[in-house]
Amino acid sequence: MKVTDYFDNANGNTLISFEVLPPLKGGSMKAIFDTLDPLMEFKPPFIDVTYHREEFIYVKKTTGYYEKTAIRKRPGTVGICAAIMHRYGVDAVPHLICGGFTKEETENVLIDLNFLDINNVLALRGDARKFDGKFIPEKDGHNYALDMVKQIANMNNGKYLDDNIENGEKTNFCIGIAGYPEKHFEAPNLESDLAFAKQKVEAGANYIVTQMFFDNKYYFEFVDRCREMGINVPIVPGLKPLTKKYQLNSIPRLFHLDLPQELATAITAAKDGKARKEVGIEWSIHQSKELKAKGAPCLHYYTMGDVETIKRIVEKVY
Ligand code: FAD
Repeated sequence: MKVTDYFDNANGNTLISFEVLPPLKGGSMKAIFDTLDPLMEFKPPFIDVTYHREEFIYVKKTTGYYEKTAIRKRPGTVGICAAIMHRYGVDAVPHLICGGFTKEETENVLIDLNFLDINNVLALRGDARKFDGKFIPEKDGHNYALDMVKQIANMNNGKYLDDNIENGEKTNFCIGIAGYPEKHFEAPNLESDLAFAKQKVEAGANYIVTQMFFDNKYYFEFVDRCREMGINVPIVPGLKPLTKKYQLNSIPRLFHLDLPQELATAITAAKDGKARKEVGIEWSIHQSKELKAKGAPCLHYYTMGDVETIKRIVEKVY
């Protein structure tokens, strides 16, 4: 079923969904199942699986020189989605990125997804690789998520890259895109970022999942701004608990967002790791309850492998 069908059938209730990362190379599906098994009691209608492209690292050779090497630490996504659907009978949403893919490779992945009856995708550009400095698309790849949304929408209309294909099967993808309540870090301002989000919706995107935020005001303002601009698709808040001291710096650095001073003070004042975790869990419970009370269509939790924390939050909210 499509993600948006779940929202339509929810009768105004706030749904719940989870996001998992593929295991590190050499790992097994057990890591995913260990995360999801305890969370399935909350009946998430869909589970997202992130995509991680290759990274460059420098490996010291016997000569003493360093060699730039590409490694993909977390391969897999499509197979994981199929395994999740098979095991739990819920829908899985693979994240697809432009980075590292030609248009044809993107098309081939989408064809596989269609064959597997995976009808939901989150269409993303992906970040710049470390050492690249800025996002560099493949030679015949997409520059922006907008272009991927257009490609998927074309396939939903039976239009493939090869013009010679007539009466191609119409795929049935429900297309999610990313949204940034505190704006995407490359965008000159929120208005510009939203103008592109609007283009993605006009091109066929069906819903938005947001970057994490720790002050709900950003989400509510974001939804208001979207509605004012005529972006009327469901907007799902993405949530992650902050439970460790180093995250006070790493989360703003990696995700380009602000942390409320009240949260920062409480985390800093907590006497040990256990107490910090309690602060983060309480904060996330409070955030979740307010978002639910104000009618968010779904709460989307980034699990990051920390099932115990996520479970404690969700138990208090649902
Ligand atoms: P785009 O929509 O392409 O936007 C990128 C930037 O360009 C923005 O500043 C935007 O304002 C601007 N822009 C957009 N369209 C145009 C245009 N046509 N012309 C000029 N400028 C334009 N990354 C991963 O690698 N794997 C994942 O699994 C993953 N999952 C994510 C899930 C969520 C919910 C979120 C919020 C992010 C996720 N990301 C993931 C990160 C994402 O790939 C990065 O944030 C990336 O930098 C931007 O992706 P995007 O799809 O928003 O890009």
